[in-house]
Amino acid sequence: MRYLILSDIHANVTALDAALEAAKGRWDKVLCLGDVVGYGPDPNEVIDSIRKLGALAIRGNHDKAGSGIANADDFNPVARNVALWTRDQLRPENRKWLEELPIGPATVEGFSLVHGAFRDEDEYVFAPAQALEGLLDAPSPITFFGHTHLQGGFTLRDNKVGVLHFKPAAESLSSTLVIEPGTTYLLNPGSVGQPRDGDARAAFAIADIANNTVEFWRVPYDIEAVQARMTAAGLPDPLVRRLAFGR
Ligand code: ZN
Repeated sequence: MRYLILSDIHANVTALDAALEAAKGRWDKVLCLGDVVGYGPDPNEVIDSIRKLGALAIRGNHDKAGSGIANADDFNPVARNVALWTRDQLRPENRKWLEELPIGPATVEGFSLVHGAFRDEDEYVFAPAQALEGLLDAPSPITFFGHTHLQGGFTLRDNKVGVLHFKPAAESLSSTLVIEPGTTYLLNPGSVGQPRDGDARAAFAIADIANNTVEFWRVPYDIEAVQARMTAAGLPDPLVRRLAFGR
């Protein structure tokens, strides 16, 4: 089974479409690590697409705030503004789908999915010290996580934590990680709809666990078209601008 792993799509349907086009024919099942909505202008379009794909999805913090099952009080004012805008936009059946997204961790074919971290779906794992706990707690050799919008991850081997940078070079679309026995992996496919690692291209991963490979992808998309929709919808300007920088 080959899995297309999407995270932090953030209501950006143009980025999602570019990812799906690039990944066409390369996967059997779609997995989604949460934050389907928030920040972006296309909450209904993205939920429609994820539902149609039959994805196995877990929820993220923006899905809770966007559906209204959690208040957005711990969000910064800009993110809160869009969470409330998202609630107003959602068609009733899409709001219900978002409300009912299960909390992680989920287990698929011997690997795990979390939005943030095992013990807390809202926790950010940026640094090796933060990753260590998850690597030690992991019930499986491979875990996929999102939330930070940074493509890459961490390894644990011989009691040492390693950092993986798998951002493909500007001229290439993907780079491949070969999974090695005796190593525990915490892998982030990156953010489809709002990358923050300095590469503005949409990020995702394709995992072929039986063949011990995980591909990390970056594909360009029409950022200006998304920015125009955000501006037309009155979404906050800092969110519009950051898409172009991937920050
Ligand atoms: Zn996110």
